[in-house]
Amino acid sequence: MKIESVKKSRLAEVDYTNLGFGDYFSDHMVTCEFSDGVWGEPSIVPFAPIEMSPAALALHYGQTVFEGLKAFRGTGDHKIRLFRVDRNAARLTDSCTRLCIPAPDESLVIESIKQLVMLDQDWAPSRRGEALYVRPVLVATEPHLAVRPASQYRLLIFSSPVCEYFARVKSPLYLKAEERYTRAPHGGTGYAKTASNYSVTLRPMNDSVEDGFDQILWLDGQEHRYVEEAGQMNMFFRLGDTVVTPDLSGTILPGVTRESVLTLLNDMDVTATERRLSMDELFQAQADGELYEAFGAGTASVVVPIGRIRYHDDDLCFPDKHHGNLCPELYDKILGIQHGELEDRHSWMIPLE
Ligand SMILES: *Cc1c(COP(=O)(O)O)cnc(C)c1O
Repeated sequence: MKIESVKKSRLAEVDYTNLGFGDYFSDHMVTCEFSDGVWGEPSIVPFAPIEMSPAALALHYGQTVFEGLKAFRGTGDHKIRLFRVDRNAARLTDSCTRLCIPAPDESLVIESIKQLVMLDQDWAPSRRGEALYVRPVLVATEPHLAVRPASQYRLLIFSSPVCEYFARVKSPLYLKAEERYTRAPHGGTGYAKTASNYSVTLRPMNDSVEDGFDQILWLDGQEHRYVEEAGQMNMFFRLGDTVVTPDLSGTILPGVTRESVLTLLNDMDVTATERRLSMDELFQAQADGELYEAFGAGTASVVVPIGRIRYHDDDLCFPDKHHGNLCPELYDKILGIQHGELEDRHSWMIPLE
């Protein structure tokens, strides 16, 4: 791969004692262009603003997809490994298909990510839970005004040293079950990581933060009764002795963390089911004393406990330090695997070589 290195690294500008999420970008980025019906060769160049026509279709009609994954520094050997990058590459393909974007080869995407992270590996933080977050984004660059799939695209991949998304929120999250707005209707783009799924959440997010909530719990678009997901996290509930997570009905994002949590729960002999889950059922479980725990799961936030959920002027409350809570255990397992402290039974960690 052609590499144009920076003359001087910006690494010294990073305050590693106080990392946020997405405040810094590493020295380099991958760039790759699609035109005349084919993807060209990717190359690595210094991270810098890109030139784009004001008529670029992505800017107007949102023909764009992205991904998010993390590279971790091993606690013992300090080596960098990528977490399940193959799953993110596969999901990028699915998102591209939904958005009529010609998907680049998954092997090209994975190789590009490896090369980038290898080159900028000094940017990877070493504290537990911190990581080098990798953000691939693919945008329609063709200048045109017709609403149709573009004929030119650009894939960019860059990285950012980050702490956990909710590192600054010290207590379990307070969610607002959203009864008015909808994130994704049936037949929409809910399962794709595409810009429009996030822009529609800004107004409701702003309002809910003003009302003192940490995040929104999205409900189904038809009746606002069934649980979907929260922000950039898939949701898990422990009811009695089973764990329930909403099934992938096309309106929620099929999270890699969600998939990993289901695998770990299976390893732990905990029964977990994927099915439709209504708010009424959760309130009934609370009344029956069977509502033990809720947590969100996503790459940016790992797993985070939910403390309360507001719905119909009523609160679902989850005991904070309930005996047998799974969230702290899952957190330790996931981070243990990611930092190479625990056996990687499912071959999730991918070395750079
Ligand atoms: C990215 C994302 C998730 C979590 O997916 P991971 O692969 O676990 O990071 C969940 N919901 C939404 C809306 C997302 O964008």
